[in-house]
Amino acid sequence: MKPASFRYHRARDVEGAAVLLAELGDDAKVIAGGQSLVAMMSFRLARPGHLVDIGGLRELDHLGVGADGALHIGALTTHRTVEIAPPHELGAGFDVIRDAMGWIGHLPIRTRGTVGGSMAHGDPTAEWCLLAVLLDAEFVAHSPRGRRRVPAGEFFLGYYTTALDPDEILVEIVFPRPGPHAALTEFAERRGDFAIVAAAVDLDAGGTTVRGGRVALGGVAAMPVRVPEADAVLAAGGSFRDCAEAAATAVDPPGDANGSSQYRKHLIRTLVERACEEAMSR
Ligand code: FAD
Repeated sequence: MKPASFRYHRARDVEGAAVLLAELGDDAKVIAGGQSLVAMMSFRLARPGHLVDIGGLRELDHLGVGADGALHIGALTTHRTVEIAPPHELGAGFDVIRDAMGWIGHLPIRTRGTVGGSMAHGDPTAEWCLLAVLLDAEFVAHSPRGRRRVPAGEFFLGYYTTALDPDEILVEIVFPRPGPHAALTEFAERRGDFAIVAAAVDLDAGGTTVRGGRVALGGVAAMPVRVPEADAVLAAGGSFRDCAEAAATAVDPPGDANGSSQYRKHLIRTLVERACEEAMSR
């Protein structure tokens, strides 16, 4: 299939793009790497009358740790840029983010797809969305009304739905703190496919001691979710296996063509335990 017809607008700067989006209203969509949107348009799942191409806005392509100690990622930074970022750009303790890139699609997709595009797309199995929820990322959105910061807990609202307004452009994603003992792992039928279930863990650990931690899951609900019941097991000194069991018990994943609810629970048990072990070995 080919997309329905649309008008193409090339943005010259963020402000101009936001004003244009406000003028065009619901009939317009931002296009960044095009790796999700073009497929949706080709299948006629999306039929925007206008595309506002922000791909040339180099000011949105940056990566680095700021004076605040947080990792700042421009929305147009590609998955591949993060995957091959030198340690001084990514910063100490953010290896979980670099390592997670290898799970995203294939090299051509990672070379064109952007961090902002993945977050704005809001796929409940996406690695970036899961990392954002795990590590309490914040989203900087720009519109003609100014800029606002949205915490990850308020950004993902449901399947492919975020808190971004139609005239808002996601300009930066901020990871406020590192996760030196964090890991993300997942299961897909083939390497490069979207995950059926993904698990991410951020342990509060020192030496061989685990003081607590956070568990987040993708592919088990309409958006990535934290699992406080599993966190409680870690805080109480429980085993990684018990933590994984608590996570599987706490959620009620949907069944679909990729697997039943029970199958997803089985994956959760395996993946959470594996993520805990990987996080501990960092
Ligand atoms: P686009 O496709 O250009 O846009 C996606 C959506 O985000 C659109 O609604 C667009 O309007 C909006 N948008 C984009 N940028 C902004 C912005 N700055 N502000 C506001 N709105 C914006 N992803 C995974 O996470 N894991 C995978 O395993 C994976 N596998 C893939 C396999 C294949 C075969 C393909 C084709 C894609 C796969 N992807 C996967 C998707 C990929 O990561 C995309 O890069 C990503 O989802 C979208 O990024 P993009 O820059 O291409 O965004």
